[in-house]
Amino acid sequence: MTASSKAATIRVSEMFGPTIQGEGVLIGLPTVFVRTGGCDYRCSWCDSLHAVDSRYRDDWTPMTPEAVWDEVKRLSGGVPVTVSLSGGNPAIQPLGALIKLGHRDGYRFALETQGSVSKDWFADLDVLVLSPKPPSSGMETDWALFDGCLEAAGGPPETVLKIVVFDEADYAYARDAAARYPQLPVYLQPGNHTPPGGDEVDAGIDMDGIAERMRWLVDRVTQDRWFDARVLPQLHVLLWGNRRGV
Ligand code: SF4
Repeated sequence: MTASSKAATIRVSEMFGPTIQGEGVLIGLPTVFVRTGGCDYRCSWCDSLHAVDSRYRDDWTPMTPEAVWDEVKRLSGGVPVTVSLSGGNPAIQPLGALIKLGHRDGYRFALETQGSVSKDWFADLDVLVLSPKPPSSGMETDWALFDGCLEAAGGPPETVLKIVVFDEADYAYARDAAARYPQLPVYLQPGNHTPPGGDEVDAGIDMDGIAERMRWLVDRVTQDRWFDARVLPQLHVLLWGNRRGV
């Protein structure tokens, strides 16, 4: 493998679908998922540790954009569908060539990232979901880097904010973020605690806790007359828990 082709290799944690997108602006839409391996964050409640923690590194397959694209086409039967690029942080992977290949065949690409790394190929996306992490994650948002992602995207992609909310501090953070970017539609999502020992991907889910946080969040938003925020649960978690590949 030459140095340049090696540089274009994508680390893939898993590919699956079509299934429905379970959250955010594309909720309910049939989607093929390409989950990349590796993340520059370590959120306390990350539900995708198999695509984050280096102990799973051996499970991440280096693939050329062409090989990833072949698999997306196989999964979708060659019928154009929305492709969700997730992780981990997919922004740390070289995904520009994959997006070009897919667009040539009429597919659409959505990418979700926390907004800590920007790439010029963000401008080629159809949908960019920027999901800054609130205080409960244990991470701190660098808003200058976040602004860099918006600048890289420029005008073309439909760009939205998606913020996970567990508690009052997270809610205040979400309000601040929304005020900072009034041009972006806002999606709020009640937090999903991975249970103790919950780096097991099939761990059970605290459905009662999620429902309680969802009701609290709806109350909070309506009491505040925050009428342009959308509050959505993770549909796939309600249907399948934290199982992988659905
Ligand atoms: S940014 Fe996302 S993938 Fe990375 S650690 Fe946080 S929740 Fe997990």
